[in-house]
Amino acid sequence: MQPIQGLHHITALARNPQTNVNFYHNVLGQRLVKTTVNFDDPGTYHFYYGDKVGTPGSIMTFFPWPMAARGVRGNGEVGASAYSIDAGSVDFWRNHLASNGVTVGQPETRFGYDVISFEDPDGMALELIVKDGPATYQFWEDGPIPAEHALRAFHGVTLWLAEAERTGALLTEQMGYELVGQEGNRWRFKGASDDIGLYVDILVDPKRPAGRMGAGSVHHIAFRTRDDSEQLEYQQQLAQAGLGVTPVRDRQYFRSIYFRSPGGVLFEIATDAPGFAIDEPVETLGQSLKLPAWYEPRRREIEAILPPFTIKPVEKVRQAEVINE
Ligand code: ZN
Repeated sequence: MQPIQGLHHITALARNPQTNVNFYHNVLGQRLVKTTVNFDDPGTYHFYYGDKVGTPGSIMTFFPWPMAARGVRGNGEVGASAYSIDAGSVDFWRNHLASNGVTVGQPETRFGYDVISFEDPDGMALELIVKDGPATYQFWEDGPIPAEHALRAFHGVTLWLAEAERTGALLTEQMGYELVGQEGNRWRFKGASDDIGLYVDILVDPKRPAGRMGAGSVHHIAFRTRDDSEQLEYQQQLAQAGLGVTPVRDRQYFRSIYFRSPGGVLFEIATDAPGFAIDEPVETLGQSLKLPAWYEPRRREIEAILPPFTIKPVEKVRQAEVINE
């Protein structure tokens, strides 16, 4: 059986859709590659951000719900989501975030690499982590960030758990991950390929209370399989291992199965295909509301419920200006 290829996407909860777009699209320079609705609740948007085309391993998605209460981070949840950056981009990002009013945490190194910590407008923990090696993402030329500093898709996630053993065993025995390091109470697992979104860290603290899901919480993380037959093999294997795995669900841009990991975090396994260009051209990704065929007859009703937002034009950030501040 083929090992998991790394992360496919991370899905989180937010409040204000406009605030969410302004931050991810205009500040972090992650292209809004799809504007659609929550297929299980079509009165709520589902935003997908990623690189130019939404390459699996770069996709951050949100359900923005203006009435949502703020979540409380704790055990059984994703404690932080991380993008990769080049070693030469640390000062750029510290300056760029600060100049956009984002509070940046104290300089930190982890497994020998620089880490920048901050929160999104809903309090979700984000990190930028320096990573060597290849990153097969597609640079978004029309975004605000110059090519040399653009985020290079996901580095990985940190799971906050009361104990590492059971979720660690799931990763290594069922999903093809390898334990590659330990630093204090942090255990690092790495996916089998040499690409993007490879790392799952488990940060153990048995005394930390359980998290409470809300705005600023990660709802689930999705891992990549290359095709449907590989996904079905995983479905069978996970079911045999006693994990309550769902039937395959059609998410329009990929197909998904879901199961709850032993530590409490909701896992998904998603296919790379068909991707975001299935219902609109790459040039105009994300600019208009896309609905799956089964919701098209209800378009007018759905559009009337969704709060309006605008995609503001991006302003190119020039390195010289930032560094001279
Ligand atoms: Zn998902």
